[in-house]
Amino acid sequence: MAGDPNILKELQGIVGEEQATSDKHIMYAYSYDMSFVKNKLPAYVVLPENAEEVQQIVKLANKTKTPLIPYVAGTNIGGLCIPEKDNSIVMDLKRMNRIIRIDEDSRYAIIEPGVSHAQLAEELYKRGLRFGWPVGPPSASVLACAICHGIGGITGRYGLNSEQITSMEVVRPTGEVARVGSCAIQEDSWHSLLPLPLLNGLFTGWLGTTGVVTKIGIFTPAIPPEVEIVTTATDTLQDMYKYMLQMGRYEIADDLTAVSWWLSQVPIPYPYKEKPKDAPEWNSYAVLYAYTPKELEAKLEMFEQTVKDQQKAGSSLQVTQYPEEARRARTELPSQIVGSTKNYSKEAGGGISWPGTFTPANRWVDVWEKWRDIYTKRNLSPSVRVTMYRGTHYGMLRAMTPLNKQYPDQVENARMAIVEALQVLLDNGGIPYKPPVDFWKEIFDRADPGFVQLIQDVKDFIDPNNIMNPGKLLYR
Ligand SMILES: Cc1cc2nc3c(=O)[nH]c(=O)nc-3n(C[C@H](O)[C@H](O)[C@H](O)COP(=O)(O)OP(=O)(O)OC[C@H]3O[C@@H](n4cnc5c(N)ncnc54)[C@H](O)[C@@H]3O)c2cc1C
Repeated sequence: MAGDPNILKELQGIVGEEQATSDKHIMYAYSYDMSFVKNKLPAYVVLPENAEEVQQIVKLANKTKTPLIPYVAGTNIGGLCIPEKDNSIVMDLKRMNRIIRIDEDSRYAIIEPGVSHAQLAEELYKRGLRFGWPVGPPSASVLACAICHGIGGITGRYGLNSEQITSMEVVRPTGEVARVGSCAIQEDSWHSLLPLPLLNGLFTGWLGTTGVVTKIGIFTPAIPPEVEIVTTATDTLQDMYKYMLQMGRYEIADDLTAVSWWLSQVPIPYPYKEKPKDAPEWNSYAVLYAYTPKELEAKLEMFEQTVKDQQKAGSSLQVTQYPEEARRARTELPSQIVGSTKNYSKEAGGGISWPGTFTPANRWVDVWEKWRDIYTKRNLSPSVRVTMYRGTHYGMLRAMTPLNKQYPDQVENARMAIVEALQVLLDNGGIPYKPPVDFWKEIFDRADPGFVQLIQDVKDFIDPNNIMNPGKLLYR
């Protein structure tokens, strides 16, 4: 048996015998994900049921200096839940799946880490509310996505899912429970992080290296009754960018996204396939919500004006038809059309990684041209997506990169494409999200030394024994 039998016994003492194990076949299931990151077995898997059990596990990890990795569905595509160190405990938080409250008037929900997007969607829809559903697996955690600066279908209007967090409860790496936001002042009040110091920043974007978040409040906007999806196509990203810039300026779309031809194929061609000559290189959709038919009409008028302006300026922009069944895919969850990993990676055998980034929108074209060369030279499809966040100044730029994990040379080929793409990206002012360890090296090589020192100081202060997901962020 891997690990120390005394630690296993103590874990079982906290959560019960059924909920903690070192069995090899279970360790195997937690040793890999879909990404290029190398497998590594943990020594223990434990499934707590509540914050008190989390606290006891954290204290045990501290006492024994055992690495501890928070986990919910492991779908982050960056190997973020794969241990870096020997004898690690993976703490699977799936059993903590209570939706504690949905406040319909103030429009926020209080949830535990195990609440999935599908579970939350079901409850919110009954109340005419929604959230930023990612195109990832509906079984993944809303909380894990939000604290990792995840993105969903409301970024055009409201920004990232982390920007929807309204309060937080955390078990610190030394075992104390802390609350941040309004719930720190009045225990039943989860509506706002401001105007207090933004201490949620100590646990957001840190990839499970600074504590275990046991509850969050999240803003859940209403579902307006009117919705229309408008779609366009262009021959170049330059034309698509100009269209998105004008549309973004009007701030009328909840989601404003474009994908390259390769990403619009289901599944993504693997290896690289030539685009048919007459197919446009870029396709976009904009989700327009409205509370009245007149409001929708006004938004459609702005869209039509944008198309006219762009065409007058010589753009290749064309309005395209949107299949009715695809409307659900963009506005509802669970979706049968997007969000299925197999749709992306079936031809490659199930593996997938990405350089997923936040990048100034006016750098998209330069980065895309270099990414396209990098990917095609490596016989991979340049399956790229761009999305505007909160207006126009920056947005997502990412390349879904299928890979076949059966063949190490194919995994390495995809990894190299991603790292080369990342280097171009960083040199153009972009920043990768949910970064695997390979990315941190590139980031820290370029980062302001004061920033690196501050990160280290915060980590040392908050986690003096370096037990939380060690090696993932500071590679030490
Ligand atoms: C095909 C595909 C498409 C995707 N598309 C999107 C997308 O559009 N937008 C998007 O945002 N994501 C996307 N994802 C990524 C992923 O599905 C989501 O981010 C997901 O919500 C992560 O949840 P999880 O339960 O899998 O988290 P995990 O992978 O289990 O955890 C993610 C990270 O959070 C840490 N963590 C988890 N729980 C806690 C906690 N309670 N406290 C502290 N740290 C914690 C973990 O240690 C890890 O570092 C996609 C994934 C796939 C496979």
